[in-house]
Order: sequence, then C-alpha cells, then structure tokens
Amino acid sequence: MPRLAGVVLDDRESAESDYAAYELSFRRDASGRNLIQGRVSATLRLRCERCNGVLELPVSSSFTLAVVEGLDEAAQLPEAYEPLLPEEADIDPAELVEDELLLAVPAVSRHAAGTCAPPPFAAPAEDLPDDTSHPHDNPFAVLEGLKRGH
Ligand SMILES: [Zn+2]
Repeated sequence: MPRLAGVVLDDRESAESDYAAYELSFRRDASGRNLIQGRVSATLRLRCERCNGVLELPVSSSFTLAVVEGLDEAAQLPEAYEPLLPEEADIDPAELVEDELLLAVPAVSRHAAGTCAPPPFAAPAEDLPDDTSHPHDNPFAVLEGLKRGH
C-alpha cells in the first residue's frame, strides 16, 4: 500500500502495524447494480502534531460501494451506496482497502487532549531555578508595570 505508507510512520519494530484486516464481498442488488461490501481495520501509526510522539490510532470502516460507469449514474445511487467509478476495467481489492484506510486517516492527527507525552527536553518543574529572589526576572513583574501605566 504505497500511498498509505507515505502517510503512516515507517517503523519496522512494530510488525503489528504492518497489517490490515479486511473482508470484501461482491454481489448484485435487485436493480442489477454491482456492489462491493467490505470492512477494513488496522492500527495506523501516526505522528502526533502536538507532542511529536507516536500516535497509535485503531481505525475500522465498513462500506458499500456500487460500481458505476459515470457521474450521472453515481448521482442516482441510493444513500446507502458510495459510488465507485473504476479507472480501469479491473478493480484491485488491495486498492479499495487502501482507499478506505486513507479515508480513515484524520486531517489532524493528535493524541486525545491531555494524553500527550511530555517533550523529552523539558526539565522537571523542581529543577527550574527559584526566581522569587529576583523579582526583576519575573515576567509577571513586567506585566504589573504595564498595567500600572508606565
Ligand atoms: Zn501527542
């Protein structure tokens, strides 16, 4: 899945993230439409945009695709169907699975609020210099001065 590989982290140590589980079934509905019903699931390893840490995101998706020959036909599909307009006569199941997983990738990948890992370079709070003896170094002292009006 080369397109998905460009989105997720390349991490050889996590073999589990290299697998996607899927189930596809092919049938024809009462109106003669060719349908592909499927489910895909995987654990995507993404880079958290807040803390830059690894975000393991379990995703799963179910879908019913109806194979259409043009946009007019796509527009007339019942709500429950998503149109699939193949570029070639042959439909590649692996590409379908990859498409669904790509759709599951969030626009912004972040850990849930408050669950980010602390940045490794941040010093623990108790190691910060005690600045109470240097009031001029205290940024709040500067704010106080501004509030008083020069
Ligand atoms: Zn994070």
